[in-house]
Parts: sequence; structure tokens; C-alpha cells
Amino acid sequence: MTKDVLSQDPVLIGDLDARDHTRLRVLQCIRAAGEISRTDIAKALISSPATVTSACGALLDAGLIAETAAPPSEGVQRGRPRVMLTVNGAVFAVAGVKIARDAIRLMVVGFQGQEIGTHVWPLLESRMDPEALVIEVRRALDAACAALDLPIERIAGLTIGLPGFLNADENFLHWSSSVTQGNVDLGPLIAAHIPCPTFIDNDANLVAKAEHLFGAGRGFHNFLVVTLEHGVGMGIILNDQLYRGERGCGAEFGHMKIQFEGALCQCGQRGCLEAYVGDYALIRDSGTVRGQSEIETIADIIAAARSGDTLAQEVLDRASRVLGVALANLVNLFDPEHIVVARSRPKFDQRYVDTMMATLRRNTVEVDAPLPGITVRNLDEMMWAKGAAAHAIERVSILKVRGLGVADAV
Ligand SMILES: [Zn+2]
Repeated sequence: MTKDVLSQDPVLIGDLDARDHTRLRVLQCIRAAGEISRTDIAKALISSPATVTSACGALLDAGLIAETAAPPSEGVQRGRPRVMLTVNGAVFAVAGVKIARDAIRLMVVGFQGQEIGTHVWPLLESRMDPEALVIEVRRALDAACAALDLPIERIAGLTIGLPGFLNADENFLHWSSSVTQGNVDLGPLIAAHIPCPTFIDNDANLVAKAEHLFGAGRGFHNFLVVTLEHGVGMGIILNDQLYRGERGCGAEFGHMKIQFEGALCQCGQRGCLEAYVGDYALIRDSGTVRGQSEIETIADIIAAARSGDTLAQEVLDRASRVLGVALANLVNLFDPEHIVVARSRPKFDQRYVDTMMATLRRNTVEVDAPLPGITVRNLDEMMWAKGAAAHAIERVSILKVRGLGVADAV
């Protein structure tokens, strides 16, 4: 993560004053560069050297950045080594968490973004009441810190990624398939059980962030990430920023209606996309058509289809065509540079990817330009937690810079 630019979320920096905002921009510039001189920061930010020197002084005093010596510039035979600045990766650590159906996956990184370690905490229940879920996150964090020999006090921030509708700015959960109850203010529960600043975000948003920073979305300014798992999620990157919607709960592609009064969705409404292509829907449909109980996972359905089971083949074929139409709608609606279609497990079966792509092409409005690129890929299961850790670094950076402003005023 070290050399990547962590994009700034404009919603989050709105209450920083001008001086703190400058410090944050300087910190981000140093993070993006990996190692950079004060002079080059001033050039990059089109700012005065005095302003940059002042901001660097505050960041150095707080231990957020460190000075290193670099060899003199080319052509300079003698003289002092140039003083360079880097993010101080050792100053503290942050953690990113993904709530999955079967486990909590957690990644701990240093402030520079360097990975310290990962941990998987198995879950006995895929849906829990809100407090039980927060307690499980705390247990997962304790277990990770113990395994990594890291005092929990070193964790300066934690981001929890979970599916569903939520307001990331207020830690308010409207609805999630991982939680038994809706409209929950997670803030007090987090304050009661987790000893560091903790943030939440939609898990597909965090995958979009991870793909933008480290994966198939690198270099794209406008792209979409569609995640397939128990449900269907989407993250939207517009002009290099995550688009969350006015209430913070946009991009719920899985709950786009594709059939008037259609199949029952886990959200309680009917006709949603994920009621046709989410893992739970395919498993439900396979059970219905087969009248058997051995189909428990998507891998079971794929295996049955490969062994010639025509009913399993029909379920996968229909889901692939439905998904192809839905993706065509995204192309028609957004005209993105690129779309990443991602799932962790099991591996995509090429036959059904071909069906999906053929349907997508048939249903995309033809213009005199090529289709956006489509990447279909299996994600490392830690990619979600990695996106959450990147989010935690952004949030903690803002908290730390805001704290500097308070210290100066005293
Ligand atoms: Zn729904």
C-alpha cells in the first residue's frame, strides 16, 4: 500500500479548517510519493515553501512523518544530503475488517500502509444481533493482536465493512443481511466494546476502494465494481471518488428491481436482482428444482452442472443471463470506463461468464465506440479487509490532523 495515493473523501474533510486541510494535503502528498522533499511538495501542491515547511513541522512534531536523507541531486558534486520526508509507518497501526457469512476477516497495517498481518475469526452465526456482532469484532481484533504480538493500544483506528444500507458518516446501519435488526445506531455499541475510533462502510465500497488503489481499477477514474456473494453489491468510483449517494446508502445494485412483483429478496421486497443472482437465490432455486437438500453452496451447483445435471445448468444459465442484462443496464446508465465483476469463491466457470458477456453485449445500446472493459475475476478474500484498512488510514489521518489543530490552539 505504501506508494499508493489514498483518495480523499470530500465529505470527511469538510469540517477541517484551512490550516489542518493544508496539513492533510501535505500528508497525502508524502504518502502518494513515498519519499519527497519539501520543495517538491510545494511544487506538487502549488503552495508556498513557507506554508509547506510549517505544515511539515506540525506533522513531524506529531510523529506522523519522518525525515530521511537522500543522496545529493545529480550534477551536484558536493553538499549536504537532501532531506526527504516519508510517512512514519511505525507511529501506529490500523485494522480493516470484513464481516462475511462464515468469518470475520481482518487485516492490520502500519500507518504507511505496510501489511503487518491478517487474521480469520470464524463465525458460528451468519446473522447476529447488533451488539453480538460488535462483540465478535472485538474478539476478532483481540485474537489478531494476540497472534501478531501487537498491543491493542497500538491500533489507532478500525474500519468495519459489511453488506447492506448504511450511513458511513454516522455509523448508522439501516439494514444488513449480517444483522438481525434494522435501523441501528452502532456508535454507542462500538464505544462500549471497541477501544479505538471505529468506522463502518458498505463492503462493496471498500472493495471498490481496494480495486482502485491496488487492483483491477488502478488508473481508472470512473469505474464500477460489482461484487457477487451471498448478495450482490456495487461500489461506484466517479472522478476518483467513491460515490455513496445523498443519504450514504446508494449503489445498492443488488436491490435494483428487475421483475415486477418478482421473487422474494432477503431485504423483504420483491423482484430485486440479488433474488435472482445472489448465492442464496441460486441455492434456493436449486433446492426447489431438485427437491434435494445436498445443494448448500454455489460450488455444489457448479459441480452438479459440470457432472451433467441439467437443472443445475439451467439455474446457472438463467442467473448468468439475468446478470448480463443487469450489467448492460449499468453500461447504458453510467457509461463507465471499466467494470470489475468480482467474487471470492468459487472460481468463475468460463461457460457462464461467456453467457453473461454475450447477454451483456446483446442488451447494450450500440454506439460508435467500443464497450467499456469488463474484468471478471476472483478476489483474494483479504481484498475486502485491505480496502477497509485503506479506509481506516484515511479516517485516522483526518482525526490525527484535526488533533494537531487543537493542540496548537491550546
Ligand atoms: Zn432486495
